[in-house]
Amino acid sequence: MPRYRTHTGFNLLLLPFFAYLVGKYEGLEESGLFSGGYIFATYFMSPDVDIYGSGPVRRWRWLSILWFPYSLLFSHRGLSHVPIIGTLTRIAYLGMVALIISLIVVRDADALEKWIRAHQYELYWVAAGMFVADTLHVLLDGVITWLKRRR
Ligand SMILES: [Zn+2]
Repeated sequence: MPRYRTHTGFNLLLLPFFAYLVGKYEGLEESGLFSGGYIFATYFMSPDVDIYGSGPVRRWRWLSILWFPYSLLFSHRGLSHVPIIGTLTRIAYLGMVALIISLIVVRDADALEKWIRAHQYELYWVAAGMFVADTLHVLLDGVITWLKRRR
């Protein structure tokens, strides 16, 4: 497994390229939302949240406990490391947590749904950034494993 810093460095290095492409073909706002999702996924929600105590989990500080059940549900480099699907598991997982919190705090089951409906377009671009960042993580994992086996 490449070190956490290798992943963040690799992703951040490639971000300008993707941000430029999205900006050129879609617009500045889309590029900003995409980059936000990309950076968030790189630092806080990388596929390695399947290891409790990994770099991205520790970044959550006292909230890192939120990822403990996730690390029990998903074995390392299992489903969490499948492009697109892995990202969807984390979005769904965080969505569940957000739903529970909104039920406790706002006491309104519809509040979260309303918010999501109102921000669908923005969330779409944030998710796109997350998908790309996570896919790069999985690719780098694969390349480094392949190089290690060849040695
Ligand atoms: Zn990994």
